[in-house]
Amino acid sequence: MVASTASERVDLELDTAFTISRGSTVETTNHLVTVTDRAGRVGIGGAAPAAYYGEDGDSVAAALPDLLAAVESVGDPGEWQTIERRLAEIAPDEAAARAGVSVAVHDLVARQRDEPLYREWGLDPERAPATSVTVGIDDPEEMAARAREWRTASDSGTASDSGTASDSGTASDSGTASDSGAAGYPALKIKLGTGDDRARLRAVREAAPDASLRVDANGDWSADEALAALPWLDDLGVALLEQPVSGDDHAGLARVTEAAPMPVAADESCVTATDVPDIADAVDVVVVKLMKCGGLGPARRQIAAAHASGLDVMLGCMVETGAAIAGAAHLAPLVTYADLDGALLLAEDPCTGLSLPDGEIDLAAVERGTGARRR
Ligand SMILES: [Mg+2]
Repeated sequence: MVASTASERVDLELDTAFTISRGSTVETTNHLVTVTDRAGRVGIGGAAPAAYYGEDGDSVAAALPDLLAAVESVGDPGEWQTIERRLAEIAPDEAAARAGVSVAVHDLVARQRDEPLYREWGLDPERAPATSVTVGIDDPEEMAARAREWRTASDSGTASDSGTASDSGTASDSGTASDSGAAGYPALKIKLGTGDDRARLRAVREAAPDASLRVDANGDWSADEALAALPWLDDLGVALLEQPVSGDDHAGLARVTEAAPMPVAADESCVTATDVPDIADAVDVVVVKLMKCGGLGPARRQIAAAHASGLDVMLGCMVETGAAIAGAAHLAPLVTYADLDGALLLAEDPCTGLSLPDGEIDLAAVERGTGARRR
């Protein structure tokens, strides 16, 4: 039974300024959530609100007391279906706060059972795809340098060790992956939507010739602009195109998907499971994030809805702590693409998280729960 709950606001600095088409971030506010049972076992989760979805650190702080009171009133964390229903009733518009609570509850239950979380769902840890790592918008030379660093980085790559990959990827050891013996991160997600996107992507491609490149325009392009970009995106070997047009432009998304040689993914266009039917004919891939849909149960429903519509799934994240990333990572065996780099972008992660050596989501190394701990 749950003995106590707690939350803590954590202001996080990013390793370097992170820019997408909507703006730049140098720091962000998360909340860590803990749920403790009578035996002293602690489940931990993290809430990473996104202003785009109308949430911020203050709204999470305002929502958490009622959400945590609901967890205590249900009492048995194993009754997570009941808990998640209550959370959705109490704070329907605070998905990030609910996600933080959801991960903490699931982490605790798996710890009580002395198993890694994925075992609760019978998932195969070997099926988790490698995660991509994101390169934000910057000058072409800077983006190329970041791409080269991630592509050739080879270290423990734990979320708890964030920043190491870029620190180790100095010019002196930035040879190709093959000549340095480093595997590096196999997939890079490149943020575009700047006006000179082609030059930026070309610079990245030259710096990381063998990387699998995904492009995310965060809805910046019109459908016509996206259609015009498809030939050079294809020439530069882009393997996946995420949210080329505005989140509410389903017709535009469908036009781009119809013409695109690569799969097209909906992120801002598909927030929860109930959005899937509306975009099912307009895209190939749905981006599922705990912070959009509100937790692990809602994420599983959104993944199932996408699969039922014949769509692939990318598991994504916000800029968030290792506690939040670790929760999402246990769903990775269900999906085709993973983009769980949020904690790698932090200057310092307040949590030790799951190990991500060269992008591999090492679920098999998790002994119990999500694998995350407060430092
Ligand atoms: Mg996105």
